[in-house]
Amino acid sequence: MISGFLQKLMFVKQFMILDGKIEILGTKHIMLAADALLGLQETDSTKTYDLVKDSVFKNMTEFVEHAKVYKALKDIALLDVIKLSKKIGGEEGMLKTLRDVFDIYGLGTMTILDLNNEKKTAFIRIDESSIAQAYINHEKKRSKTPECTITAAVLAGMFSFLFNKDVDCIEGKCLAKGDIYCEFAVK
Ligand SMILES: [Zn+2]
Repeated sequence: MISGFLQKLMFVKQFMILDGKIEILGTKHIMLAADALLGLQETDSTKTYDLVKDSVFKNMTEFVEHAKVYKALKDIALLDVIKLSKKIGGEEGMLKTLRDVFDIYGLGTMTILDLNNEKKTAFIRIDESSIAQAYINHEKKRSKTPECTITAAVLAGMFSFLFNKDVDCIEGKCLAKGDIYCEFAVK
């Protein structure tokens, strides 16, 4: 199975896995297992956070630039992200596009619980966090602290782009701690 968003990208040749390459919207990606990424983030979580946040911010910018010049992408609602970055409303289509983009990372299912474009804050819920699940499988016990550094970094990068302001993301609830989902505050 593949998400409708990626199906549409495939249709216009903007998502491909071929000849040792994975390309999404003109950007090369590398697929790694969640436990490898968990291990990497544990070597230096602050540095990992900063690097991933910067990379996602850059990715969002590139996606949107790509969508602007590539006419076939018009139908894929990526242009909604541009509108979204200018004026965030409660419009379902825009929020859905944001979820679709987040889905590409394979980090879990995103739900936006609260979004305030004036204050530049957001509360995000992630269900079935891949990083938290990798932690539980690896450690065989609950963590005392939230574990989804990479997820927080991806959200920080996305929302820094959307809010047009450098924001950070802190995880409160975490599946790895025994909560039923992970919850992140963006500000
Ligand atoms: Zn978590």
